Amino acid sequence: MKTIHGVKGFHDVVPQQSERFTDIEGRLRAVLAAYNYGEIRTPIAERTELFARSLGETTDIVEKEMYTFDDRDGTSLTLRPEGTAAVVRAALEAGLAQREQVAKLWYLGPMFRRERPQKGRLRQFHQVGAEVIGRDDPLADAEVVTLLVDCLRACGLEAAELLINSLGDAACRPAYRAALAAYGRAHVDVLCANCRQRLDRNPLRLLDCKEEGCRRVMADAPLVRDHLCDPCRAHFAEVERLLRAAEVPFRVEPRLVRGLDYYVRTAFEVLAGNLGAQNAVGGGGRYDGLVAELGGPPLAGIGFAIGLERVLLATAASGFQPPAPEVDVIPLSTAATAAAVRLTRRLRDLGMRCELEAAGRSVKSAMRRADKLAVRFAVLIGEDELRAGRATVRDLRRQADHRLALAVDDDGPELVETLRTLGVAGGSHG
Ligand SMILES: [Zn+2]
Ligand SMILES: [Zn+2]
Repeated sequence: MKTIHGVKGFHDVVPQQSERFTDIEGRLRAVLAAYNYGEIRTPIAERTELFARSLGETTDIVEKEMYTFDDRDGTSLTLRPEGTAAVVRAALEAGLAQREQVAKLWYLGPMFRRERPQKGRLRQFHQVGAEVIGRDDPLADAEVVTLLVDCLRACGLEAAELLINSLGDAACRPAYRAALAAYGRAHVDVLCANCRQRLDRNPLRLLDCKEEGCRRVMADAPLVRDHLCDPCRAHFAEVERLLRAAEVPFRVEPRLVRGLDYYVRTAFEVLAGNLGAQNAVGGGGRYDGLVAELGGPPLAGIGFAIGLERVLLATAASGFQPPAPEVDVIPLSTAATAAAVRLTRRLRDLGMRCELEAAGRSVKSAMRRADKLAVRFAVLIGEDELRAGRATVRDLRRQADHRLALAVDDDGPELVETLRTLGVAGGSHG
C-alpha cells in the first residue's frame, strides 16, 4: 500500500519537540499572567470577510496566502492567517471591548498561510499574541512592547534586537504614502515586478522588499518620520522615553513598516540574529482604526504576535532536556503483572513519571532498556520478589540495589514511600 504523507508546510509535533513546545508555552503563560492578561481562544475558521476587511485587500496575506473555502451553505470561510482580527471580533461579540473598559487578552494557537515553506516558515505555524483594546496612550505601547521583550526573554532570547518605528496615522500617513509612491514612480524602471504592482495600492511595502534593486533605490526613499504630524511625533517620543525608563534596549528603524494595513503609529519587530532570512521572532503594532472597521466602537488597540516555531529554532541550542521517566517497573513474568500494575498506578498517583514494561523479559534485556530510558530507578518484580513481598529496586545512578516492600502493610521500608522520600518526582535529589 502506498504511504500517505502529511501536507507540505504542515508539520507534526512529536515528543521531545512537543515537550519543548510545552516548556516554552509555560514560560509565556507565566509572563502573561504577571502582566495580568486573560487568555482568549478563538476558532480556527472565520468568515473570509473578517480578514479581507481588517488586513487589507491588497496585502500579500489576503491576495495570495489565505486558505479560503466555501462552506456547504456557500459561506466563504478562511483558516485564520493571524490572530488580531479574530480576537477583536471575539472581544466585540463577548462585550469585552467597550468604552471605558480595557480588554487585555492573549492567545496561542495555529495560524495558516500558504507561503513557500522554508526554514522558519510553515503553512501551519503557531503564534502566541497579546492585544490591548481600549488604550491609545503611549504607556500602553511601551507596556505591550516590554511584554513582548519579556516573553522572548523568558524563552531564552535575551540577545534579540528590538526595532521600533512610527507609521503615522490617518492625519499624516496619506501625504507620506503619496510621497513614497511618487518616489517609487520616479524609479519605476529599477523596481521589481512585485513593487511595481504595489506602487499604487500599497507603496509602504516597497520599504521592506528584499530584492537587491529595490533595496538600493529605497535606501534614499522619503522616511515616514519626516512626515509625522505633531501628535504622532509626540506619541512616538513618549514611547521611546518610556521604553528607556523600562530599561528595554531598542533601535529606531525608519524603514520598518510591517505587512498589514491596519497598523498606525507604533510598529515594532524583534529579530533573532541566528535565523537567516526569516529572522523576525515577533512583532506587532498599534491598530487604532481596526475595532471601528470591524463594526465596534472607535476604540484604539495595540498588540503583538510571536512565532513559536521561530522561537524554538532560535533557542534550539539552549540545551533543553525533555523529561525522562523516573521509574521503570519491570514484571519479570506474567505472575508479577498484577503486583506491577498496582505498584505503577500508586507511583503515578504521586506524580512520578513511570514506565511499565511488558512481562517476561530477561533481567538483562530489561536493564538494557532501563538504561536506554535513562531512568533513575528500575523496579524488578520476579518470582523471588513475589514470594518475599519485596521488589528489587535498582538505583541506576548509584549502581545500588535495595529490597523494598511492595505492600503498605508489610513491615520494613515500603517502596512507594521510599521512592517518594527520595524525591524522585522533580528529580531534586541524587
Ligand atoms: Zn521590490
Ligand atoms: Zn500623524
